[in-house]
Amino acid sequence: MSWSTKRLAKSLWVFHLSASPCNNCDIEILDLLTPHYDVERFGIKLVGSIRHADIILLSGVINKKVAPMVKRLYEQAPKPIFVVGVGACPTSGCCFKDSYNITPCREDIIPIDVYIPGCPPKPEAMIEAFAKLMGVLRG
Ligand code: SF4
Repeated sequence: MSWSTKRLAKSLWVFHLSASPCNNCDIEILDLLTPHYDVERFGIKLVGSIRHADIILLSGVINKKVAPMVKRLYEQAPKPIFVVGVGACPTSGCCFKDSYNITPCREDIIPIDVYIPGCPPKPEAMIEAFAKLMGVLRG
């Protein structure tokens, strides 16, 4: 196991990438930082720059307006980076999937490694996804 993988197994730095969601998922993501859930006690920290991130938390369906920005941010991220799709929007397109403004193939814009279902998913589901990811990294 490399040094960087060992570090990831103990501490994940997360960048929240909001790509045209309805904002409910974003509110649930912010809930993770409140004293009630306090994910920093698990070593999970929200960062303000994509260049510091180990994980991208992606919310929303990625419409045509934001698609170039999402692609560019992903290109700027240090690799390897894990992309976690939060909610039904990145998973299936949710109720927006037949909209004229949605990018037909999200995987062409940003490859998604882990999906967390729900509309919106509960913070507990996101914590479980982080725990599983850290478990996989520990081997
Ligand atoms: S998954 Fe549901 S709650 Fe989350 S951004 Fe999409 S529509 Fe909103």
